[in-house]
Amino acid sequence: MVETLHGDWLTQGPQIEDFEDALSAILGARHVISCSSGTAALHLAIATAEVGPGDNVIVPANTFLATANMVRMVGAEVIFADVDPVTGLMTVDHATAAMRSADGAKIKAIIPVHYAGQCAAPLALHELANTHGLSIIEDACHALGTTYEANNETYRIGGCAHSVMATFSFHPVKTIAMGEGGAVATNDERTAIRMREFRNHGMVRDPQRFTDTPGSHDDAGVPQRWYYEMHQPGFNYRPSGLHCALGRSQLTKLDRFIARRRELVDIYDQLLAPYAPIIQVPARMADCTPAWHLYAPRFDFAALGISRNALMASLFDVGIGTQVHYIPVSMQPYYRSRYGTADLPGAAAYYACSLSLPLFPAMQDADVDRVVGAIVRATGLRKT
Ligand SMILES: *Cc1c(COP(=O)(O)O)cnc(C)c1O
Repeated sequence: MVETLHGDWLTQGPQIEDFEDALSAILGARHVISCSSGTAALHLAIATAEVGPGDNVIVPANTFLATANMVRMVGAEVIFADVDPVTGLMTVDHATAAMRSADGAKIKAIIPVHYAGQCAAPLALHELANTHGLSIIEDACHALGTTYEANNETYRIGGCAHSVMATFSFHPVKTIAMGEGGAVATNDERTAIRMREFRNHGMVRDPQRFTDTPGSHDDAGVPQRWYYEMHQPGFNYRPSGLHCALGRSQLTKLDRFIARRRELVDIYDQLLAPYAPIIQVPARMADCTPAWHLYAPRFDFAALGISRNALMASLFDVGIGTQVHYIPVSMQPYYRSRYGTADLPGAAAYYACSLSLPLFPAMQDADVDRVVGAIVRATGLRKT
């Protein structure tokens, strides 16, 4: 980042391609388009998939606002799918049920969310999408570094073996940080070109793509130096060189970050196991090796005799921050007034009992002890 500050380019310089090449090599996707946030990544992906007014897109209810909001931003409608009450993940059955609820309306895409860093049925959803001619756009904001097994092979989330595109966020709470930043991965060249244009106002600079001749070329047939065209309006979703320089340096630490997150999750699991069934550690998906973004056990607050809010408050008082991921997006006033109250019992059940505990690579083993100890003290729980 310091080199970037002293260099010729604060933005639109070589740092952008350096970061994209490094991420592309890690993910195993042919193209990576970096951008200014995970939300921008979703917008780039959804707009480029030619989702628009009259289309419907399936989104799991247990996700961050942005997944559904970007569908609305291109003028399409969201069909919320339910999630598993134990894992918070959308399965192929939930996606199928959501498709049925659409009553024959045109569904253009499914946006599975790899919640907490686990895998939301990549192969099964791919097969469903193929059967029905839909696109899969993975919201992989939680899952940088996650791998899964299918057909006796190991695949990486973001390698896009079973999707058209996968989106990532590099907000500081995510696995690597750019400050604000994101990216879309794809193996489809045309999709990549269109995303690069959409990221930059829809400007077309490649003479091969110019449509307005002769204005684009001089008498000798040489492209005019100043010339550009715009075929579809876009945004300024470019990441700066400073952000990409930080992202590039963070990628060199990715393996260490992921390994440490996995160790911390194992320690949490061990320390919390004696408090089952009142506290249930996250269920692990088969054939998935998560690069954990969240550690969200489920609590039986009724049995504990303490509300989630009271538990959060007493943890906060001893310096321990916790969070709820997520309020089902379908419950938000905007979506309720647009689509009515959704009947998604899995998402409601998951929301009622989950609480995300601190998880970040700089945590010490003793910090995990301290968090579990504070929960035990606040709740008066005894080992079973
Ligand atoms: C963080 C996140 C986003 C949005 O990313 P930003 O970089 O904050 O815009 C979208 N979807 C999911 C699942 C996320 O966790």
